[in-house]
Amino acid sequence: MEVSSVKGIGPKSLALLNKIGIYTVDDLVTHYPFRYDVLKRSNLKEVEQDEKVIIDGKVESVPILLRFKAGLNKLNFRLVTASGVVGVSIFNRAFLKPNLEIGANVIVLGKFDKSKNVITASDIKFGLLGKEEKIESVYHCTNGLTNKQISTYVNTALLMNSKDITDFIPEKYSVKYKFLNKKTALNIVHNPPSALKLREAKVRLKYEELFAFMFKINYLKEQHRLEKGGIARDIDFEKINAFINKLSFELTKDQKKAVDEILKDLNKKVRMNRLLQGDVGSGKTIVAFISMYANYLSGYQSALMAPTEILVIQHYNNLKEILKNTNINIELLTGSLNKKDRAEILKGLEDGSIDMVVGTHALIQNDVIYKSLGLVITDEQHRFGVNQRANLQNKGIMPDVLYMSATPIPRTYALTIYGDMDVSTIKELPKGRKPVQTFVKSEQEIKEVLEAMHEELKNNHQIYVIAPLIEESENSDLTNVIELKDKMNLAFGSKFRIDLVHGKMASGAKDLIMGEFKNGKVDILISTTVIEVGVDVANASMIVIFDANRFGLSTLHQLRGRVGRGNTESKCLLISNSDTKRLQIMESTHDGFEISEEDFKLRGHGDLFGTKQSGDMTFKIADVRSDYKILVQAKEDSNEYLLDTSNNDEKLKKCLMESINHG
Ligand code: ADP
Ligand code: MG
Repeated sequence: MEVSSVKGIGPKSLALLNKIGIYTVDDLVTHYPFRYDVLKRSNLKEVEQDEKVIIDGKVESVPILLRFKAGLNKLNFRLVTASGVVGVSIFNRAFLKPNLEIGANVIVLGKFDKSKNVITASDIKFGLLGKEEKIESVYHCTNGLTNKQISTYVNTALLMNSKDITDFIPEKYSVKYKFLNKKTALNIVHNPPSALKLREAKVRLKYEELFAFMFKINYLKEQHRLEKGGIARDIDFEKINAFINKLSFELTKDQKKAVDEILKDLNKKVRMNRLLQGDVGSGKTIVAFISMYANYLSGYQSALMAPTEILVIQHYNNLKEILKNTNINIELLTGSLNKKDRAEILKGLEDGSIDMVVGTHALIQNDVIYKSLGLVITDEQHRFGVNQRANLQNKGIMPDVLYMSATPIPRTYALTIYGDMDVSTIKELPKGRKPVQTFVKSEQEIKEVLEAMHEELKNNHQIYVIAPLIEESENSDLTNVIELKDKMNLAFGSKFRIDLVHGKMASGAKDLIMGEFKNGKVDILISTTVIEVGVDVANASMIVIFDANRFGLSTLHQLRGRVGRGNTESKCLLISNSDTKRLQIMESTHDGFEISEEDFKLRGHGDLFGTKQSGDMTFKIADVRSDYKILVQAKEDSNEYLLDTSNNDEKLKKCLMESINHG
């Protein structure tokens, strides 16, 4: 059901809703709050320095508006509250000024700097707090679409006919677990009456989401079991060995084993469906190249897919280099090709004159036709969701598929989420690799950090500096990164080149700066987002991560893997004033699997961007780590349901199946 059928949503709102990924009524009602604010008045006398507070009162002074560079602004005013007068500052809400008249009643949410008696507000609402606590839903919004509007639309949709909202849980399990019905659960999640009720509703919705997900995995596995028509090839071991022997290094034991397993798969008539897992820097790429070479020798085309253009170009250049003494025709296919070049390449793929192609998602678009596609490899597979996995297999051809991922995941968890695949694992790092020296530093030790950075720069090495993610609703993060750039400029700007990439940048602009860093034109790269996974800049020898406590260990490990890729001694500095014990795990181990186990055990607040970047983990409400038990149950149930031929709930099965290609 289209979201436009919800009363009150006109063309303008519709466009904005589409912009944040909401197209159907189902999308709307599952646009869950990303946070809840518990509105209960704080007693400012009792809270600690920098604690989060909520306070209401009357505006006492005319707000003063300050404007800074980069479009940043700040409002300052005084507020009379039940616990005395306090100062309030808020960033980037200049538009509130006219409404913040003297005497206006406002509710302020933010961090209280007790020593200065100032609250740095993350939000200001008009009105006063009641006696009871109130739970308020906070949604991801977009310019022109407010939290209140979203809440209104959601609630209007919830008043519609139940039939318009799909329930993916078969009745059998709803009854078995005494689940709330879907509408009730949705109502509670969007308008929680209490924390307890909220928990109950969430469990039901999480189960549903995981059930649908696991159904897909089980379904894919079952399809794979039933399918016929894989390619059985003759493998030319002699030529492949000669190729391996000519490499400038010897393969590690794990690499050899992975190559072996893949060649065996290629040789068999059953289609390969394999995940190649390996820690950052473990050398997965060469394994992929060898497989492509083997596939070429048996007369088939290969496609290598990576999530970003930078990575694609990196692979393309390396592949060309490694195969330069052959007459294998290798081409590049990305979204930024012009029409004519693109047409040229499509022609070559269709008539078979191109043997290997490296590209982004563009490779699996419907208009790309291959003459004899035998092998598809996706790098950094954790960025490709299950839906894209299915897409690859639905192209009407039956190529062997190899997925590569640098996110080491615990075995139990892998069995679930990658339950439809075979897994090869590379644990051992290539010989001579020096572990990245890792140190946890406090904010007070910044001087030492800057000195260490200077040392590296003097030796003509490059540095990554990572600041926490910019969250849409938290302007204070933006200040962080801009302030950070100013600080870096102050310290190093006269002699070194500093640049910044962040998530709000257009991908073209991002690629450009990443490219300059790669070419050595930028010495310090500040980044708020993930520096592209897999990017190889051998000359970068240091990574400095601010607010390291805000990242999961696996993410930190991934980030750390950006350095120490060559022979140079590399360093990783983790800056944080809290969570030091957890971070110290990074000082003592470099084993990604061990780290991910620890991460998994500790969980904490979850992995800020680990979850975001991973196509497979972008659940709307479930969290595969903290909801692992529900996941396992959902896996079991969905499999039972899939294989149960006696149930004639065809409509629901169809719904679940269809969600494989959309969802
Ligand atoms: P990842 O597994 O993170 O994708 P890469 O495939 O990019 O790692 O490999 C990292 C670096 O290690 C590359 O520069 C690659 O050439 C090199 N490398 C790969 N295998 C070996 C090996 N067996 N011995 C030495 N260096 C290797
Ligand atoms: Mg890689």
